[in-house]
Amino acid sequence: MDHAAANNPAGVASPVRWEEQDAIARSGVLNRILVRISREALQGDSVDALMQGICDCLVAELPVAIASVILLDEPGAHFIHEVYAGELTLSPLPSEGVWPVSRGCAGRCARTGLAQLITDVDQDPDYVAGNADVRSEYLIPICHRQRMHGVLNLESTQADFFDADVCRVFDAVADLVAGAIHFARMADALQAANGKLEQLSMIDGLTGIANRRQYDMALAKWWSSLAEAGRPLALLMVDVDAFKALNDTCGHLYGDDCLRELARVCEQHAGSTGLAARFGGEELVLLLPDLAIPEAVHAAEALRACVEAMALRHPASPVGPHLTVSVGVASTIPMPTDAPEQLLAAADRALYAAKADGRNRVCHAP
Ligand code: GH3
Ligand code: MG
Ligand code: MG
Repeated sequence: MDHAAANNPAGVASPVRWEEQDAIARSGVLNRILVRISREALQGDSVDALMQGICDCLVAELPVAIASVILLDEPGAHFIHEVYAGELTLSPLPSEGVWPVSRGCAGRCARTGLAQLITDVDQDPDYVAGNADVRSEYLIPICHRQRMHGVLNLESTQADFFDADVCRVFDAVADLVAGAIHFARMADALQAANGKLEQLSMIDGLTGIANRRQYDMALAKWWSSLAEAGRPLALLMVDVDAFKALNDTCGHLYGDDCLRELARVCEQHAGSTGLAARFGGEELVLLLPDLAIPEAVHAAEALRACVEAMALRHPASPVGPHLTVSVGVASTIPMPTDAPEQLLAAADRALYAAKADGRNRVCHAP
């Protein structure tokens, strides 16, 4: 017997005592339990609710003093969680509810992967009592395709309760629990993987900053929220000067390194309230809520100067010995009826002007 702290009420006693029923009546009870549990195993909202329902059912319908499902951690080295029903009058296990599989009859079941039938608990050196009236115990591994999820533990005040028919039903119950836990865990893993994929789909693979998709989503979101608030949204279009020549002279790998450095700086300048994204190729974009043209130009100038000060070598630049960027700036108070692409087009025109003006400079839309 292995138990965590008491956390549920005792089960309801069967209206007709098990020992007073004949073989046919007992078989009917076992069949009814299997039908009910198989239905519950497929309908549970959560693994805990499902396990609780099963334990409650076993305690209510059979001369089972304690029924519990004890779950193992992933390596199968510790029991980490127990759900039970019945009369747990002793508290033999650590109050934190974690104990190693080296302990108890449940531990032996988990270690060996074999069901344990104990017809006299007083004779079993591993038995840990949770109820002084318990005479016999049956423990079954909850195992699905080689993965041991835990142990189904049943304890009876009758020494001869666990006969072959009863054990067969409990074996089937353990299989049902194993299947239900397996599918619940698969669903959890799938949900986590989907969350991770969703995150990855928003990130640029080369630089690790936001990608075009995230930029599009942020622009749409900020466009409508700032339109509602009547506050400005600024957009900075940042383009590396003579990047093709840099690739040609220093190689694409060095070009990639420069892009990563530039992305890092853009992210710093976007701060916690803005967004820096790789728009495509060697063009990055910053969305800065609440900045009108003068502040946005100021932010762009700070960014431009910071890139120049990094002094990344650029031997083929017509501007100077180091990597530089040109920046086009636009800002507007969004109108709900206007398309946000207008802001990008305005910043793009300003960028073109910065290039035409000699590069390594900031120009802004009128
Ligand atoms: P300008 O000053 O007018 O902007 O000149 P530029 O050479 O930067 O502009 P252009 O558009 O001619 O060249 C952009 C170059 O950026 C061409 C392309 O090979 C390079 N590029 C685009 N994406 C990447 C990338 O992921 N890594 C590297 N290393 N280069 C890239
Ligand atoms: Mg470009
Ligand atoms: Mg360029």
